[in-house]
Amino acid sequence: MKTGVIGLGVMGGAMALNLHKAGLLYQVWNRTTAKAEDIASQTGVSVAESISSLASECEAIIICVSKDEDVLDVVNEIAKGIKPGSTVIDTSTVSSDTAKQAAEIINGQGGQFLDCPVTGGSEGAKNATLSIMVGGEESTLDNVREVLSAIGKKIIHIGPTGSGQACKAVNQVICAGINQAVTEGLAFGDALELNMDKVLEAISAGAAGNWFMDHRGKTMLAGTYAPGFKLKLHLKDLDICLEMADKLPGYDLTLTDVTARDYEKLVEMGHGEEDISTLFRLKKA
Ligand code: NAP
Repeated sequence: MKTGVIGLGVMGGAMALNLHKAGLLYQVWNRTTAKAEDIASQTGVSVAESISSLASECEAIIICVSKDEDVLDVVNEIAKGIKPGSTVIDTSTVSSDTAKQAAEIINGQGGQFLDCPVTGGSEGAKNATLSIMVGGEESTLDNVREVLSAIGKKIIHIGPTGSGQACKAVNQVICAGINQAVTEGLAFGDALELNMDKVLEAISAGAAGNWFMDHRGKTMLAGTYAPGFKLKLHLKDLDICLEMADKLPGYDLTLTDVTARDYEKLVEMGHGEEDISTLFRLKKA
């Protein structure tokens, strides 16, 4: 299946390379052309002249851009070129409402749309081990399963359009809590002047062990915060979650709210482009 990727950042760039390994990558496009040229030189595929020309050439079109308005901008350009029967797969993290709007635009041109947010971090994107939460028609998913299998190891059909993004919101709420717990716990151990290499080794093997601590524990203790997952992107996700919770009468996402406020402080301090583990900065004594 001829597959194109639009948005070649940390996640999309790695997905494109894995699609190439699976023999599926046909074309790429990125707003900053240098990134597209880099992927093209590594894979031999062409850089599309425009989003609409990529859409007219590809049967599966993967989007991986930052936020809601970016997805809708890209989808409106895809709509100018898409062939009936082609499928747009949005792997960005955005709101369920945006997924529904995007689906309407693409369906209006005879195309199919799946909201397919992912989890597993930059490592998951690189190693093609992402978990993919799919919203949309199951028959559409079946048509593009080989494409999703090239970038992820778990593909779960959650339900109708928008439900993939709703599932991702649940994931992001939990990640907000895990970030609070891990950064606070490791900063506490550091303040107690423990040997933190030994602490990490001991606690990772037990009930406190988790993906985030395994992948970001050592780097945060060393004071390095290269993304990974940019803090400003997780803040964007938490704002989506808080807006969703506001629509549920009497519902409160306390820990998510605290984390979003901490992230806002870190953005003001100039750390928005760093990995979310930069929360450790606020926890240190
Ligand atoms: P990133 O490295 O910052 O890349 C963002 C990409 O979006 C870049 O290619 C950027 O183009 C493009 N872009 C932004 N605005 C655009 C617009 N208006 N039109 C066209 N292209 C636009 O971010 P990332 O980490 O890959 O994340 C991408 C998405 O995946 C986000 O929604 C994020 O929340 C989600 N996600 C990230 C992770 C993670 O661990 N990093 C995990 C799961 C999900 P330029 O190169 O021109 O800036």
